[in-house]
Amino acid sequence: MTDTPTPSGDPAPGDPAPTDPSSAGRIAFLGLGHMGLPMAANLVAAGYDVAGFDVVPAAIDAARTAGIPVADSALDAAAGARIVLTMFPSGAHLLQAYRGGADGSGLLAAAESDTLFLDCSTITVEESREAADAALAAGHRSADAPVSGGVVGAEAGTLTFMVGADEADLPQLVPLLEVMGRKIVHCGGHGAGQAAKICNNMILGASMIVSAEAFVLGEKLGLSHQALFDVVSTASGQCWSVTTNCPVPGPVPTSPANRDYRPGFAGALMAKDLGLALAALQSTGVAAEIGPAAAAIYQRYAAGEGATRDFSGIITDIRDASAGAPADAGTAAGDSAGDDAAAGDATVGG
Ligand code: NAD
Repeated sequence: MTDTPTPSGDPAPGDPAPTDPSSAGRIAFLGLGHMGLPMAANLVAAGYDVAGFDVVPAAIDAARTAGIPVADSALDAAAGARIVLTMFPSGAHLLQAYRGGADGSGLLAAAESDTLFLDCSTITVEESREAADAALAAGHRSADAPVSGGVVGAEAGTLTFMVGADEADLPQLVPLLEVMGRKIVHCGGHGAGQAAKICNNMILGASMIVSAEAFVLGEKLGLSHQALFDVVSTASGQCWSVTTNCPVPGPVPTSPANRDYRPGFAGALMAKDLGLALAALQSTGVAAEIGPAAAAIYQRYAAGEGATRDFSGIITDIRDASAGAPADAGTAAGDSAGDDAAAGDATVGG
């Protein structure tokens, strides 16, 4: 993977890079939920001409309150747009919105030809490529750019975008994404952004589970949380799940463990992303064992209260399942919070 060129990179022939928001044309922003609303608000604040829409009236009200101009319908928003940006729950939502009903009244038909369809939702690679094919067949251009960074990253404009797009579309894309994100990585052609997102979150889910298991093991062995953190965070076990989103309270004061696992990155979203990874593992025939196990563990977690708790709360399930086992010692020491802990941005998961 390579980083994208800067906005000052070579524009496509005849299509100067619209680094000036006022020359970028209208952005239809569809899906103003937890992520979409703050992302759209950042575009408005940066001077972009945004026409937002959501199928849920409460989301439209919230968008208006946040100062986001709202269209009467998704089709109205798309009709005058140079870019149609979607931030939907799933690929099914996306494909349905693109194609519309039997009368063909979807976004692809409503938009002027050569509109750039930019999907930032997390969906399967297959759905993403299907959406791109449909957009291209309708005379448009397409890019997938799923995000990492969660709601806090969306609000702060510090998301990471994983981009699957034609090189020629980067000059139009990058300035826009830089308003909403801090890191933009061009991963390859259509679907490559989704592929990178799925792989990253498979690592994240698995690393959180094993980190939580290690902290519970440490408790059993009489290690304090701080001692284990001090070693792991500077040794070869180091990972984001420990150094930033530490599953026990204390060592990283900003981690969700310090606020009773309020997300952060909710268990339901981790279960969704690992489900996408599992489907990709199966369709590609990868002989994986840890990824599928992580998917099963988070499916179980998200079937209960874990759906709305941070994914690091999986440690509670592991600890509960370990209760009564031999050598149940050391938890009192483990609860001590260290003053010299390395604080990180705890809420940028997913
Ligand atoms: P959300 O459910 O809060 O928002 C999605 C919005 O899309 C909803 O408001 C819904 O009404 C709207 N919508 C659905 N179909 C629509 C249509 N046809 N036209 C207009 N609006 C429509 O979800 P979210 O948390 O904002 O997540 C959005 C996407 O980002 C998901 O794919 C998710 O996996 C991904 N993601 C979320 C996070 C996170 O922390 N929430 C982090 C990274 C990635």
